[in-house]
Amino acid sequence: MLKIGVLALQGAVQEHLKSLQAPDVETVIVKRTDQLEALDGLVFPGGESTTMRRLVNKYGFYEPLRAFAAAGKPIFGTCAGLILMADHIAQEPEGHLQLMDMNVQRNAFGRQRESFETTLVVKDVAEDIEAVFIRAPLISSTGDDVEVLSSFNGEIVAARQNHLLACSFHPELTDDTRFHQYFVQMVRESKETAPEHTAVT
Ligand code: GLN
Repeated sequence: MLKIGVLALQGAVQEHLKSLQAPDVETVIVKRTDQLEALDGLVFPGGESTTMRRLVNKYGFYEPLRAFAAAGKPIFGTCAGLILMADHIAQEPEGHLQLMDMNVQRNAFGRQRESFETTLVVKDVAEDIEAVFIRAPLISSTGDDVEVLSSFNGEIVAARQNHLLACSFHPELTDDTRFHQYFVQMVRESKETAPEHTAVT
């Protein structure tokens, strides 16, 4: 069984749990750092990134989340979750968890377009992903190890860096679970190749 958690400090949690469902997946609502150890993968939901960062600090998650990523365990950040993962945030002194080599810009699609829906081509996932954007960030540039998975109007809106996945939109708000299931597959593959599993004799 794979155990995949959703960080539940703030934001949309239930919808992610639903989209992650698969016969071999157990989902976990994560509110305490001692729950991280048992997890094979973790989702950072949308919400408000400044508030989320404050809660990450308040509940002692900062170092444990960085250690989780450093251990090679997959993380999927959506919207505010993507902002938490970025190395650099435009007009802010520094990034939050700084896990992915990319620059992001918050609330990047303009006030008049606070929220909209479109259909996106997402590399390795599908050519017709329904994407809901809500005061969404964009990825303004990426490092060499980051693979761009999707763009909208020339702006990067989904990317992957090895075991780390991030998107500007909210795949949990549609019935289409293919993007989440792509992440679930990343978690399966990571667990199969994890040293503690291959080392068992
Ligand atoms: N605008 C929010 C932020 O900057 C993100 C919005 C979202 O997660 N839907 O944190």
